[in-house]
Amino acid sequence: MDCREALLKLYHYLDGELDPSEYMDVEQHLHNCKGCFGKAEFERIMKEVVKKRCQKERSPEHLKDRIMELIHQIDINSEKSQSRPADKDSPFNTFNPS
Ligand SMILES: [Zn+2]
Repeated sequence: MDCREALLKLYHYLDGELDPSEYMDVEQHLHNCKGCFGKAEFERIMKEVVKKRCQKERSPEHLKDRIMELIHQIDINSEKSQSRPADKDSPFNTFNPS
């Protein structure tokens, strides 16, 4: 594997999307090539920073509110979709028109 090939696969390598054999090839190259190793480390750190920043911006309180809101919406939707066919199919409807 040359540097070009290694760098092409670098992002997949960092995302863990490579086949085990490809992963080994990239890892082997990074082990032997300081230039690519530096690049890989840089990308790895960048990914970490972006990840941490995303986590920071979404505060737990805000996230909790959002989740509660979503659960509430799901409850309302599932009640609607469940009660309609049940009412329609209910044998009591024919005997009790109200
Ligand atoms: Zn290289």
